[in-house]
Amino acid sequence: MKPLLAMLATAAGFVHLYAQAPHTRLNPVVQEIVAEISEDRIAAHLKKLESFGTRHIASDKDHSTRGIGAAQRWLHQEFSSYSPRLEVHYDTFVAKKAARVPEDVELANVVALLPGKVHRDRYIIVSAHYDTIVMSGSTPAEQEFAPGVNDDGSGVAAVLELARVMSKREFDKSILFIAFSAEEVGLLGSRDFAKRARAKKDQIEAVINNDIIGNDRAGNGHSATGVVRLFSDGPEDSGSRSLARYVKEVAERYVPSMKVDLIFRADRFSRDGDHTPFHREGFAGVRLTTASENYSHQHTITDTFENVSVPYNTRVARVNAAVLASLALSPVPPSVMTERSEGEKKTYSARIGRGQSRYDAALQWSQPEGDADIAGYIVMIRSTTSALWEKEIWVGDTKSYTLPDVSIDDKVFGIRAVDKDGNCSLVSAYTSSTTVRD
Ligand SMILES: [Zn+2]
Repeated sequence: MKPLLAMLATAAGFVHLYAQAPHTRLNPVVQEIVAEISEDRIAAHLKKLESFGTRHIASDKDHSTRGIGAAQRWLHQEFSSYSPRLEVHYDTFVAKKAARVPEDVELANVVALLPGKVHRDRYIIVSAHYDTIVMSGSTPAEQEFAPGVNDDGSGVAAVLELARVMSKREFDKSILFIAFSAEEVGLLGSRDFAKRARAKKDQIEAVINNDIIGNDRAGNGHSATGVVRLFSDGPEDSGSRSLARYVKEVAERYVPSMKVDLIFRADRFSRDGDHTPFHREGFAGVRLTTASENYSHQHTITDTFENVSVPYNTRVARVNAAVLASLALSPVPPSVMTERSEGEKKTYSARIGRGQSRYDAALQWSQPEGDADIAGYIVMIRSTTSALWEKEIWVGDTKSYTLPDVSIDDKVFGIRAVDKDGNCSLVSAYTSSTTVRD
């Protein structure tokens, strides 16, 4: 008689289920990266950024220790010191005279590229802005003391520390560490960057923007020291939402002391950030920010080192580390939509049907080229009113799967690819057909 296990194993799916280690296991490489993020380094970066006095876009460009020029040069030097594999450059653009721009001025984002070894032209971006502003109305903004330690020295400190830790290793995809300029005067640096990226048809898989991640106590005394908010714009299964779900899943697994509070909104009321232009240009872009905003320090001379929490800032940097490393090691997300071009118009339709019975959920997908180490795929399912995926079915190395007697109208379906080390891709969701202009 066959052993019971062998008999069971002949049942469809069973072999796949047990031939594979669970995909949610922790990747030791990602764990190491998370652990290496240093609180001391974050503290040192915050103090250094404060020491420039102001980083306003119209502040001194030539002074050796004060103003935006000195800050910009220090960022370049800092990135360059981490690893010869980091390719660092000034990404220049011109800000035209406007309400908050006193005169036409050439500015620069500071960009460090860690080239990927499998997908050199596919990018994961982690960003923050290094310019600051104080709005007192009495003195010209460029002359004000504008320390901007939380807004957004906290984000820049995290981006630098991530670049240091991650540039010791190699990843499948390229990672861009970006300190944007001119966020405070209209998202000028990120807008310029995102527009050019779209025009060049750059493959940007994800943008994780960090803005005000350094304090865990609000002005009214409320504190949420184990929570970070993540803002993402819709519609429901937009790239930004898919990224938001991924951040929550991965970050909470690797940094269990942190909860990622998903806010399904572009940003706070009447506010925006450097993720906004990316979402608008069709890329997946989200914002991490404190759950305890303190309005009395924002854009004031009291946004100083004294008023931030280094341990909190470090934990949010670790959230970033987990997500960036997981994304950069994971396969490219599967394609679940068919693309048809007609002149300037592109139509996307879902590769989902009702099967021969007309009562099944028949899913099909394909895998973009390049990932040689794919172990298989996971079908993700949730109800249409659920924010998070509810069910996962490991289906092995196949490009189609049918769920008998399951209505395609009543659930949301998605597919993710998993490689042999257990790294999971973003989830590609089947959505209603859409037409967009290129
Ligand atoms: Zn900011």
